[in-house]
Amino acid sequence: MAILSVLSGWTAALGDLVLEQRCAGCGLGGAVVCAACAEALDQGPWRCRSRRGCPPVWAVGPHAGRGRAVLLAFKNGGRRALGERLARGLAGAVRAAAPTARRIRLVPVPGRAAATRQRGYDPVRTLSTIAAARLRGQGVDARAVSALRYVHATRDQVGLDSAARWSNLAGAMRARSHGGLPPEEGAAVVVDDVLTTGATLAEAVRALGATGVRVSGAAVVTERGPGTGRFGGEYGHTGRRGSGSDTGPFPDLLSGL
Ligand SMILES: [Zn+2]
Repeated sequence: MAILSVLSGWTAALGDLVLEQRCAGCGLGGAVVCAACAEALDQGPWRCRSRRGCPPVWAVGPHAGRGRAVLLAFKNGGRRALGERLARGLAGAVRAAAPTARRIRLVPVPGRAAATRQRGYDPVRTLSTIAAARLRGQGVDARAVSALRYVHATRDQVGLDSAARWSNLAGAMRARSHGGLPPEEGAAVVVDDVLTTGATLAEAVRALGATGVRVSGAAVVTERGPGTGRFGGEYGHTGRRGSGSDTGPFPDLLSGL
């Protein structure tokens, strides 16, 4: 039994090692994230198309190609170490959402309890914490504050259509009234992983607003746009990078996806 357990541990460790040597974005061997995928992840932040009930939202890139693959490997593939890499771009998106603030409080959208238990970590909270540390390294007084919680059970948004997503989330969150987020403390930026309809961010903003917290903006890792999923046709992309580019990051990957 003990030997089997040791062997099983070795097999798992070996699996991790093999995985870690393949790029999470494209599968190329030799790096956790290869140079081409790293470059793609560094081209943001870009301004997302506006969504109902949402403040200005900034993304690392589109929910497509290399960026999407790295995010999914971090979120669902157990490659937790990718958080450092993703948080680099996310920190830029947070800064873009509150460009002049000297104090920024990153408010992660809470993960669903069952998913967090299954993964062993909350991806958005983890990314927010690392992004805040990166911003502190750049001289910004930044901190991740888990100020939101669900007050009633919600379904996984994946697979729901637009109307179902909005009704699933309506009134689902509550913000702590004493969560280190008084309005005078600086800018509050809501953080999530994927922007689809905007229902989740809108609910987070509503819940924070109910306790007097004004949200300056939001930051996500990826934005769904045309050709990047089932909502592609509904959410035409008009994103703008800081430079005003029409194409946004990963232009090569937007075609044919
Ligand atoms: Zn790659």
